[in-house]
This record gives sequence, C-alpha cells and structure tokens, in this order.
Amino acid sequence: MNLDALQEYRKKYPGLFNLLEKTLDRYPRLDAVLKTPGVVKAEIDAQRKQVLEVIGAEMKPYREQYETFRELPAKGRSREDVLAELEEMRAQESGSWKEGFVSGAVYHGDKTHIDYLNEAYNLHSQSNPLHTDLWPSVSKFESEIISMTARMLSEGAPESVRENLCGAVSSGGTESIMLAMMTYRDMAEAERGITSPEMVAPVTAHAAFDKAAHYFKIKLRKIPVDADYRADLRAMKKAINKNTVVVVGSAPAFPHGIVDPIEEMSNYALKRGIPFHTDACLGGFVLPFARKLGYPVPAFDFNLPGVTSISVDTHKYGYAAKGTSVILYRNPEIRHYQFFTVTNWPGGMYFSPTFAGSRPGGLSAAGWASLVHTGEEGYLEAAREILAVADYMKVEIAKIPELRILGDPLFVIAFASDTLDIYRVMERMTEKGYSLNGLHRPACVHIAITLRHTKEGVKERFIEDLKSAVADVKANPSETGSTAPIYGLAASIPVRSVVGDLLKTYMDAYYKL
Ligand SMILES: *Cc1c(COP(=O)(O)O)cnc(C)c1O
Repeated sequence: MNLDALQEYRKKYPGLFNLLEKTLDRYPRLDAVLKTPGVVKAEIDAQRKQVLEVIGAEMKPYREQYETFRELPAKGRSREDVLAELEEMRAQESGSWKEGFVSGAVYHGDKTHIDYLNEAYNLHSQSNPLHTDLWPSVSKFESEIISMTARMLSEGAPESVRENLCGAVSSGGTESIMLAMMTYRDMAEAERGITSPEMVAPVTAHAAFDKAAHYFKIKLRKIPVDADYRADLRAMKKAINKNTVVVVGSAPAFPHGIVDPIEEMSNYALKRGIPFHTDACLGGFVLPFARKLGYPVPAFDFNLPGVTSISVDTHKYGYAAKGTSVILYRNPEIRHYQFFTVTNWPGGMYFSPTFAGSRPGGLSAAGWASLVHTGEEGYLEAAREILAVADYMKVEIAKIPELRILGDPLFVIAFASDTLDIYRVMERMTEKGYSLNGLHRPACVHIAITLRHTKEGVKERFIEDLKSAVADVKANPSETGSTAPIYGLAASIPVRSVVGDLLKTYMDAYYKL
C-alpha cells in the first residue's frame, strides 16, 4: 500500500475519505492512516453527513412529493389515482433521455416505437414460457428471435455452420454472459475433467464476467489491453492453461467501444481446444450493419471457426424493451450444458433453459415485434444514422485540444484529458443535464451514441456543451467537485475493497424508503 499516495488523496477528498472511514474497522492499518492529526472529527462527521445527504436526496426525489408505503395500504388506492401518480413520475423522468442528454440507456426511444412495443407487451402480458401448452406463441417468438440474431451474426458462413447455431432468450446481457460461463464450466468438467475452472478475459470485458466468476467459482484471469485498448494477444496466450474453460473477447467492449482481436484470439483458443465467447451485447445489432456501410469492422461472429458462443442484447441496439437478450451457441451440444432438469420433484417433471423459472412472455413478444418490424433495412438505417453522429462527434472531440479519444472506436466514444481532471469535465456536463459514463483505469468518460443523439441539433449541442465544460474546468483549476472524487478515488487508492464496501452502502441507500 502506498501510504503517501493515500495521504495525498485524503487531503484532496476529505469528505469521501470520511465516508469510507465508516467501513474502516475492518482495515485497522488504513484506519490509522486516515486518523492522523489535523483533521477535526466534527468536520469529518459534517462532511460525511453532507455527502450522504446529497446521495440520499439524489436517489429519493419523491420522498417529499408522494406518500411512502412502508406497509400495504389498508384499503387499496383507486387505479386512476395510482396511474396518475405513475404518469407524473414518468413525465418527470423522461426529459433527459428523450432529449439526447444520456449515454446509452434508451437506444431507440421514439414514441411510436415505444407505443408499439408496449402494445405487443400488453397483448401478451399474461404469457409465461414455462407453460408452453398455454402459450405456444412464446416458443415461436423466442425461437425466431434466436434464429434471426444467429443468422445476422453468421452471414457469409457456410450453411453447415449456420444450421447448427442455436441459443436461448435471457433477461439481459448479464444473464446471457453468466449462462455461457456456467455452461463452459460444466462442459469442461464433463468433457475434460476440469475441477478448478478458469476464464481468460481482457480487463475491458464487462463486469458481468466478474459476476459470473464470482457466482460460479471460476477463477478469472484478466489480461491487459494494448495501447489501442484491444486485448493483448501475448498476455492471453500466457494466461491460458490446462484449467481454462473459456476465453472471452468483446465486440466491442463497454468502456472504450473497441473490438478485441477476436479472430486471433478465437483461432488460438480453437487450436488449444478451448471454447471462445464473443460478447457482442453492445455491438451485435450494430457491427454487421456498420460493415455493410463500409466501416472497418474486424471479424467477430460465427464466421470465425473458434467462436463457440455470442451474447447479444436485443434490449440495446435491437430496440426491444428492457429485459431481453440472446445467448447463441455454435451447436446444441454446447447448449445442453446450459439446460437444467429435475426429474424427482413432487411438483412434477421440471426443466428450465435459463436462470429464471417463470418468465415474462410479453417481453419476448415485444422483442420479437421489434426485430420483425425494424428488419434488416431498419437496422441498417439506424446504424447509418448512429455512425454518422459518432463520426461527427469523434472529429469535433478531437478538435478540443484538452481532450483525447481513446483508441479508434465506432459508436461508443471514450475521451480523456492529459491536462484536466476529466471527472470534473463530466461533472460540468452533469450540471448541464447530461448523464455520461465515468470510467477509470485510465480516467475517462464515454458516450454511447444511440438513436436519441441522431435527432436534430443534439450532436451539435453536445459538442458545444462539452467545449464549455472543458473551458470552465480549465478556468477554475483548483476547484474540487462533489462526484468527481468518487472516480478519482476508486481509480487511485490501493484499497479497492474499501471502495467496494462504499458501493454496497449505495445499494443499501437504493433500498432505503
Ligand atoms: C450492456 C453490456 C453487457 C451487460 O448487459 P446488461 O443487459 O446490462 O446485463 C455486457 N457486455 C457489454 C459489452 C455491454 O455493453
């Protein structure tokens, strides 16, 4: 632990450090460092209280506005009353994403499209794929969602490959990824006798891989990325061993929007007889069309013989409602390791393909409705518009001398600064109504371009606001912000478990009335 660095940060961000202090009884050494003389206890407490109040107020704006239901109301409220309240909250929350102030989050968002998805959901809101006898339509929707995405991600591959592709509809990218990782763990145990499973993934791979490693007790070996933010091939080769059950690459990765060298990675995995997973949660519905539009898109899909599975999110650039994603496998033999069955349960013969039991068939109906309505032409057009905005943004951001774009991204643009605190730039943007993603290691901010940013004037406004945010931070170099330190701290202090505890406190706050 670098105590000097720690002291430095303590001086710079006293409020935050004192928030952390709460959790410090488990870290006596750090506790001693933080409790050095010169900091008045009362001041610490005041600052902590202030930070907690800020977070609490931000998270719970409706405390004052509406009744809080600690218990079931003795007598039910009228539907009209409840719906009116729901509508009020919706109205208060839709401004910023609708007007293109937000990175990612809502990928389509046109009212006509939302109404259409809602109508599809309405019509099938009672359906549950657990009861295929009652709702055979869900089986149609899901098998077709899988087939449409599998064909989209194998165009040009031999029909002998394409006809074997299969998959499952899950609740989101995280579930798709976790299903695949569990599948490979069990497959490796059954076929290769591996009992100490390991995964190999770039540091930029989504946190869902960490979650899978944690839940399923798979050791995650992380490999660094190169100067272009692509997975380091030499490090990957070194990280693979006889316990490796899967190698992972992203197309693109969430942080910097960069596609890993999937071809080289998956070829090497194939040579070693190890499965390879492409995480195309973010790019699955954009990259195939970007390629058709002439953008340089490296190979990442089932055209590569080593790619054994792909996760792809219908609820992102597939423009479906939140709550669906697809996990695709190269063949049904792999998928069988994902399926779960119980034959001796008094409740009957039980089987389920994904983690959930009962599932919302209505969401699959809406997802299917999005795919068949948008069609190839629609996704191509959407990609064209999104990529045009991204091209504009990249050119304009590059013109701001204080900023620097990381790598060579397509539609998720991360930028850093060598001269300014980039988190303070983000904070200025937040004050202007934006919701961008703060990233660390290295410190940067990203924006995922969606159809919201293709609306008239949005991209120009973004660049103007970014320029003025940069100018503002530049003009006030000594000022410290309120949220900026969180990222600076998490990126810098050597005691990450303390930061982890702080994040758990946030989740407690989320569930607080
Ligand atoms: C969004 C995303 C995920 C996880 O998806 P959720 O739907 O949020 O669970 C995984 N990988 C990448 C690259 C993503 O962008």
